[in-house]
Amino acid sequence: MAEPGGGPGAPHRPVLLFETVRLLAPERGGLFVDATLGLGGHSEAVLEASPDTRVLGIDRDREALKLAAERLSRFGARFRAAHANHREIARVVREAGEGEASGVLADLGVSSLQFDTVERGFSFRQDAPLDMRMDASGDEETAAELLARLPEEEIARVIYEFGEERRSRRIARWIVERRERGEPIETTGALAELVARAVGHKRGDRIHPATRTFQALRIAVNGELEGLDAFLETAIDLLQTGGRLVVISFQSLEDRVVKRGLRRLAGQCECGPRVPVCSCGARRAVEILTRRPVVPTPEEAEENPRARSAKLRACSKL
Ligand SMILES: [Zn+2]
Repeated sequence: MAEPGGGPGAPHRPVLLFETVRLLAPERGGLFVDATLGLGGHSEAVLEASPDTRVLGIDRDREALKLAAERLSRFGARFRAAHANHREIARVVREAGEGEASGVLADLGVSSLQFDTVERGFSFRQDAPLDMRMDASGDEETAAELLARLPEEEIARVIYEFGEERRSRRIARWIVERRERGEPIETTGALAELVARAVGHKRGDRIHPATRTFQALRIAVNGELEGLDAFLETAIDLLQTGGRLVVISFQSLEDRVVKRGLRRLAGQCECGPRVPVCSCGARRAVEILTRRPVVPTPEEAEENPRARSAKLRACSKL
């Protein structure tokens, strides 16, 4: 099947493109906010779907914005971009002079570009400085700085909570012991090797033993889970009646936050029977369109390894 915006062999193919477009329903026209523009693959498909769509793309990565702007230049004024965090979506939409949106899309995975940019220290397959910041032009702490500063228990907590790594305490102890010897961890290679030695490589492990630790640091460095609930609420507020929200996440913690957030927005109270008055903020604002998360077909997972852990959830505003 020919894919809009991608095509066989196209670099950086967007994840779950067909399902994303189906659920955003861009044939309705209007404004679509791509809160995590990345290289603009999803936005391209939305713009191609109807001459009546406009896209406002947001990304905190200036390099990605530049590449997306080039890719989407043929759509002229129908595409605009803004350098911001997806959590600033309300401000960006307001400053663009826009009102209600037909759709909002958030692809919470680290963009393909970032995975490929070895210098930013996202990958442990090649040795690079341990950075991991999504906005490399900012002055936030890098992963190396985080590991140099945090106390051992904090490092363990980050690795356990954001990486779901059971051997987090052991890894944290090794990191701190090394730091105390005056050898701070400054490269992806050094961290990958330390974790592999700390936890050992089990036979039959499909993933590198450092995968969960790297994921945890990436989330901690970029504050990825903080504000996700608030983002969902804000996105729903921006939608017109019948407008669609599509969220793609790439790890179970994120997907859990999205699942619960959408349920709450659909009016399913989570307070439990012992709480006399609802305090979870449940309100009936949306209809959930994906009873189960949409995941890639075996074919997509085979062709695009980045898509493997993707889970898509969508809702429609009432
Ligand atoms: Zn409640």
